[in-house]
Amino acid sequence: MQNSTIPTKLFIANEYVSSEGDDRLTLRNPWNDSDITKDVHVAGRDDINNACLAAESALGKGPWAQFTGAQRSAHLLRVAALMEENAEKLAYLESIPTGRPISAIIHFDIKHMVEVFRYYAGWADKIEGRSYIEDNGFYKIVRYEPIGVCAGIASWNATFMYVGWKIAPALAAGNCFIFKSSEKSPLGALALGQLFKEAGFPPGVVQFVTGDGNTGSLLASHQKISKLSFTGSANVGRKIQEAAAKSNLKKITLELGGKSPAIVFADAPMEIAIGGYSVGGGFLANSGQICVAASRVIVEESISKEFCSSLVKLFESVSAEMGTNPLDASTTHGPIVDQQQFQRVMGYIEQGKRSAELLTGGSRIGTKGQFIQPTIFLNPQKDSSIWTEEIFGPVLTVMTFKDEEEAIGLANETDYGLASCIYTSDVTRALRVSSRVQSGGVAINSPFLPELNTPFGGIKQSGYGHELGKESLKSYMNAKSIHINMEIPKL
Ligand code: NAD
Repeated sequence: MQNSTIPTKLFIANEYVSSEGDDRLTLRNPWNDSDITKDVHVAGRDDINNACLAAESALGKGPWAQFTGAQRSAHLLRVAALMEENAEKLAYLESIPTGRPISAIIHFDIKHMVEVFRYYAGWADKIEGRSYIEDNGFYKIVRYEPIGVCAGIASWNATFMYVGWKIAPALAAGNCFIFKSSEKSPLGALALGQLFKEAGFPPGVVQFVTGDGNTGSLLASHQKISKLSFTGSANVGRKIQEAAAKSNLKKITLELGGKSPAIVFADAPMEIAIGGYSVGGGFLANSGQICVAASRVIVEESISKEFCSSLVKLFESVSAEMGTNPLDASTTHGPIVDQQQFQRVMGYIEQGKRSAELLTGGSRIGTKGQFIQPTIFLNPQKDSSIWTEEIFGPVLTVMTFKDEEEAIGLANETDYGLASCIYTSDVTRALRVSSRVQSGGVAINSPFLPELNTPFGGIKQSGYGHELGKESLKSYMNAKSIHINMEIPKL
């Protein structure tokens, strides 16, 4: 694809438009450090105002508000089909600035986004209310109404998934949506604008803006935005909550970071615990840059030697294959997203070397691109940063335990609560432990993966609110209670 065909302008009211200001983002390819573009438009105050005005005019007496549920459903299905048809182009645009392997973007992120649009298309004409007979003199109706202008702010590690999670339920419920991708991954999301237009969504229903934290904070503090769903770090999540409180008390959903545990009991089926997409493989998908990655492995002492040596073998084989172009269909593991994140991860590795035993990895791969060896530390000090803080890179810590109680204690020894994994052949134990681990999701004998019909979200400092399932649909609606006095005197 030529640089001239890379979308860099804002998608507002169904048109690609230049930002009102001159600020631009520069993108570099983390595989070979080459420049991609220096011309991604940054949305400022006027641009966000324009997007809000366009969204408002689609609502109220505007065209989008006149759509029936069945029409909204048909439009969601149409855009899902267009996303599928354009998967290769979309994946290319997402891969070049992030280094995420193109095959993972096509076969996981885009596939999932399409499924999410189809799932919520199924909901759009099935939104119901309820009513209560007049047993106390009042006939009561509860109806669910769209909130209005909604917005989403996303991290860079799987942009298309966040597009699905945030935009699809909002549209199914009848809202308009303004989506801000990360400044590290704006291109794929921008290209989606044209597809929403082609699918027949009226101007202002779905809009894509680009920019950094300043653009994000304009959305978070905007008076006309009534709901905002945020995916990103806990630090920025705090700022979003503060901005919402200081502006119009918009509803917010916070999908924040994690330091998820994987508890491996001695009776775990080893091929499941170690194999391709399990403790080690699951963690290394996207080179450790996944919010639910189980970055703290808590393994029963009696099997820890055998377990760790298998894990080391797996990490070293992944390391040996790293360095190939993420645009090659055969590439499975890409670089760290950019130099800033690379430095951050290397900083943790250096601290880890002082507080734990290094089992493998610990260095940069090659001299070109932002590659880091998959790294494992064993039995870190409990107060060390590699055990307590989210690293968001290919750095795993392993801690051993003697009994179930100790394992649960270690699993819960974190400020986060996103997802937990439990590996065991004993289903009774799996259920017992799953009720005691403090996290929004639990996977048994698997990494934790999002499912269309179950809510996805964290507890503790991993945030609140949910994506996916019926829970997310409800979060894009206001419940309105209507009470009718049935005992008014006859005229
Ligand atoms: P980040 O918090 O730095 O940025 C996320 C988004 O917030 C970006 O779009 C950024 O431009 C925007 N932003 C920055 N400052 C802002 C401000 N003051 N006001 C409004 N918006 C602002 O996170 P990141 O580096 O992009 O992503 C990594 C983090 O995201 C990790 O902590 C990871 O665990 C988390 N994450 C969570 C989930 C989840 O579903 N729970 C999924 C993926 C990533």
